[in-house]
Amino acid sequence: MIQTKGLVLDTSALYYGKDMPPEFELVISPGVVRELDREGMKERLELLLATRIKVLSPSKESLTKVIAESEKTGDSRRLSSTDKEVLALALDLGYQLMTDDYSIQNLAEVLGVSYEGLEQKGIRKVFHWEFRCVGCGKRFDSDVTECDICGSPTKTKRKKR
Ligand SMILES: [Zn+2]
Repeated sequence: MIQTKGLVLDTSALYYGKDMPPEFELVISPGVVRELDREGMKERLELLLATRIKVLSPSKESLTKVIAESEKTGDSRRLSSTDKEVLALALDLGYQLMTDDYSIQNLAEVLGVSYEGLEQKGIRKVFHWEFRCVGCGKRFDSDVTECDICGSPTKTKRKKR
């Protein structure tokens, strides 16, 4: 089934508290630690850190690659810096990513990072986002936050192919 030595976990993977298979090394990023802390999960986090979870930072190279690809697919705005960190970490280590976040899964697909969702089935196809002005309806292919015609903000939508 899973062809990997380890798993990189995002915040949602820890939040739902699912037990991970004991044979894998488990890795999270510093951003995940911060998010769990913020969500009042400190006790659970301490327990995890005391047992089997390692905290590692991704390389700058991988992070740069993740950021560049997220801008191409349009996922950039949907991804937090922590999301980008865990993607870069999975890329560095060659580990499988455990996440339920569709934008993370989408980018993992683009980057050739294997992933598995905890609840839903992972996406099969890579999709792109389009950006649409909420004022005049103009469509943009790239991540534009403000319409150049009327100055209204844009909304993201999954692009139909
Ligand atoms: Zn507009």
